Amino acid sequence: MGEVRLQGIGVSRGVGIGTAVVLKEEELKIEHILVEDEEKERKRFEAAVSTLKQKNQELSEQLSESVGEKDGQIILAHNAVLEDPEIIEPILKMIQEFRVNAEAAVEEVFNKAIQTMSSLEDDRMKERVSDLEDVKQGLLRLLLNIGEMDFSKINQNTILVTKELSPHVSAMLDGDKIAGIITQRGGPTSHAAIISKAMEIPAVVGVEDAVELIPEGEFVVMDGENGTVILNPEEKTRKSFERRKKKVQAEKESLKEYIGLNSISKDGVLFEVQANAGSLQDTKRAMEQDAQGIGLYRTEFLFMNRDTIPSEEEQFTAYKEAVVCMEGRPLVIRTLDAGGDKPVEALGLKEESNPFLGYRAIRYCIQNPEVFTVQIRAILRASAFGPIKILIPFITCLEEFEETKKLIDEEMIRLIMQDIPFDARIPVGIMMETPSAVMMADILAKYADFFSIGTNDLTQYTMAVDRGNSKVSDLYSVYYPSVIRAMKRIIEEGDKNKIPVAMCGEAASDPYFIPVLMGMGLREFSVIPSEVLKVRGLIRKWTIPEAEALCQEVMKQKRVEKVKELLEKAKKI
Ligand code: PEP
Ligand code: MG
Repeated sequence: MGEVRLQGIGVSRGVGIGTAVVLKEEELKIEHILVEDEEKERKRFEAAVSTLKQKNQELSEQLSESVGEKDGQIILAHNAVLEDPEIIEPILKMIQEFRVNAEAAVEEVFNKAIQTMSSLEDDRMKERVSDLEDVKQGLLRLLLNIGEMDFSKINQNTILVTKELSPHVSAMLDGDKIAGIITQRGGPTSHAAIISKAMEIPAVVGVEDAVELIPEGEFVVMDGENGTVILNPEEKTRKSFERRKKKVQAEKESLKEYIGLNSISKDGVLFEVQANAGSLQDTKRAMEQDAQGIGLYRTEFLFMNRDTIPSEEEQFTAYKEAVVCMEGRPLVIRTLDAGGDKPVEALGLKEESNPFLGYRAIRYCIQNPEVFTVQIRAILRASAFGPIKILIPFITCLEEFEETKKLIDEEMIRLIMQDIPFDARIPVGIMMETPSAVMMADILAKYADFFSIGTNDLTQYTMAVDRGNSKVSDLYSVYYPSVIRAMKRIIEEGDKNKIPVAMCGEAASDPYFIPVLMGMGLREFSVIPSEVLKVRGLIRKWTIPEAEALCQEVMKQKRVEKVKELLEKAKKI
């Protein structure tokens, strides 16, 4: 057999070379039995639920430790399924009222829910399907007494091939042994993509029929950037992949040179490259990568997957630990940005028909000062331990910012009365991520201490395109002239009013776009920790006049394709 080429979507950069280990899901055989003792059956089911919850908790802690807290949270989302009355109650009903055995009841109820979810168009719902599949498998394995897959025997240089990388499997992976991951399902925002990226393992998802087409033990080369997978490669192909792998590794190694260096343009203008974080683990990574601060600390993760909101003490400890970890480098803490694509069950929010346009982020906080002021106090108290700035998300009008400032001032007064130390000059900035804020940038800049551009949402709201919907993902690009104009206006108004402007959305780490941002006058970038050195390296390749010339050319373009062409031509990657 000659070499065979398969194509998928590259979601985690890097070249993988190794031997395929194919995870085939065993068909679990479920018998339908009429049970005699329904009480006993109910207890058996409840025991399986509680064991699985316990296991999820442990796996989540393991994953938080090895990959990151955000990733650990993915597994905890499974416990929400195990507490969902719409799932659990019908199962109990089948067992208790119809004396169906637990396995059959689990299978039927889960399959029904999976069928309903799969028929929906929404990508986030599709992600939920994989959660449901994973929980179903977990429960059935426990009820049938079938053990977990044994990963300890996996050899070095394994290319893992699976229908879908469940969070359970990913928690058991040994990042040193896995040379690549290939999955049949999933897109750029799937668990497989997020986890492989965080573990820095090359990954290709969406390879049709991968599990059937790739034989166990086959020699495979794969490219996690362009999505190519080649089975049984010819000598020439193998050599070229080996060369590329070495090149990628050398690049990664060479980035270490930038540790301890300034983020400075070729002609000597100073920049700041900071990191985005959502946990203490991330702040530690940011320090390892020599980030010049945390430009965005997302506080949502502290509030997610739990029944109650975190107390002032718990929040204070988290913020204090983060700022202490940064050893004097600034920490920008964003206040609770709940809602939209960030569910926070503990807030008990009702479902809305337009969640991205609804009761979320600062809108929720202003209307619920009993929740918001706890967070404000915790942040203010932490500011006694290092340089902290407060960032307010999803601002659309001046009134919201004024109301927020009023609440902050009131908490400051309370702290003074109680003799509790804090930084009274703590800067308060605005997350520029709605078209309304962009239109108001000239006015908002007179009230805010700094701006931070959230390109993820700014693109979504400017282009009126749901950031999670793959059907319209072509429109979700920062290269559209409208989005580019929006960014430029924010930076210009910031400059005019002499307040710093940073960018913390994904566009800040786009190697093609960085020179354009430099040319617009952006001087602060905040990116995921693993990209910090790459961004610093790129900044050092451009002079300001070069970047300005490119920016001017880009600003003249009317169409997204032309912008892409220009950036492709100009790149210095
Ligand atoms: C953004 O919207 O660009 C951003 C950085 O915030 P998030 O992705 O958390 O909405
Ligand atoms: Mg946002």
